[in-house]
Amino acid sequence: MKSLEEFVARKLDTLRDKGLYRRIVTTERRGDGSARREGQHLISFCCNDYLNLSQHPEVKRRAKEAIDRYGVGAGGSRLVTGNHPLFAALEARLARLKGTEDALVFGSGYMANIGIIPALATEADVIFVDEWAHACIFAGARLSHAATHVFRHNDMAHLEELLKAYRAAHPRALVLTDGVFSMDGDLAPLNELVPLAESYDAWLMTDDAHGIGLLGEGRGSSFINGIKADVPLQMGTLSKAIGCYGGYLCASAAVIDFMRNRARSVIFTTGLPPADIAAAIAALDLIEGDAGLRQRPLQKAQLFCRELNLPAPVTCIVPVIVGDPVRAMAASEKLKEQGFLISAIRPPTVPEGTARLRITFTANHRDEDVIRLAAAVRALGFAGAVAP
Ligand SMILES: *Cc1c(COP(=O)(O)O)cnc(C)c1O
Repeated sequence: MKSLEEFVARKLDTLRDKGLYRRIVTTERRGDGSARREGQHLISFCCNDYLNLSQHPEVKRRAKEAIDRYGVGAGGSRLVTGNHPLFAALEARLARLKGTEDALVFGSGYMANIGIIPALATEADVIFVDEWAHACIFAGARLSHAATHVFRHNDMAHLEELLKAYRAAHPRALVLTDGVFSMDGDLAPLNELVPLAESYDAWLMTDDAHGIGLLGEGRGSSFINGIKADVPLQMGTLSKAIGCYGGYLCASAAVIDFMRNRARSVIFTTGLPPADIAAAIAALDLIEGDAGLRQRPLQKAQLFCRELNLPAPVTCIVPVIVGDPVRAMAASEKLKEQGFLISAIRPPTVPEGTARLRITFTANHRDEDVIRLAAAVRALGFAGAVAP
């Protein structure tokens, strides 16, 4: 079809002109946390496998064992025949970790958000969402057809203004935010958000993709400083610190029962492969049993920030804001020449004018490599522009 080919060619040209063209580069990740890309050996500082559990011998062993016992694929939707026994074990573990009555595992974090949000909100309802929340939260909000109002990042006064103006006109309301913001590594102010959402009878959901396994004794962003924030809907992913694949929601027994009946991204899709579920359980065993492991990624980020005289980080995600996407690509290329894999993150993943290097630290990073990276980043001359 000529019109189709012309349409995509024109769109791709525009992306190239703006420095926003993306390429998927084959990257082989290795057990030691390094990566091979285009023939080059690199130390990866842009991976979400924060605890390196995707490569852990015990996690791999438990996955293999599950393959031998249950096979490779789930064979069907969880509501038909795809609900092998490991699901119940994982869901019980997640609910216990998050301090909720029950949990439901989804195919991925993205699938969780596009299932949960439209199950709870319809065109009659209203959604309030932090402007920096993950793309799949916005996708879920759009699918729900609810009126959606975006509040300025972590700005509680702005959220309250919007709640005051729009909440009353709708039967149900949701407040949606990341617990840990994926591109900036900062935290949602749950101590303010929880009472604010509650006072407007709005249901708060936090996306804790980057919190579970790391913060609050591994229990996530709702458990910082030993206090449990009363978040009724805690969702997250098994694909980051857990090192596997899949999403989850932890909530009351009734909410989870409702999701089994109404979340379309659970009902009309095949269950996760048994090996993945077994691996996630093995990863949780390791996380719960090793406080030292959980703390290591943040310690590496702290070392990096000390080296560069940057404010102390609160998570192991440290953004170095460059601004212009073409300059961000050039900076990433320069670091690659020195053996560091750090992808440039550009709009629309991050707001216009904030293209960046998103540096993430993992448990296995060696201190000398962190120090060497800090020197390389200092030499780029952007370090003064790091977000607080
Ligand atoms: C990665 C991420 C997701 C998506 O999770 P997947 O399991 O990779 O689909 C959702 N929310 C946030 C905040 C994320 O960082």
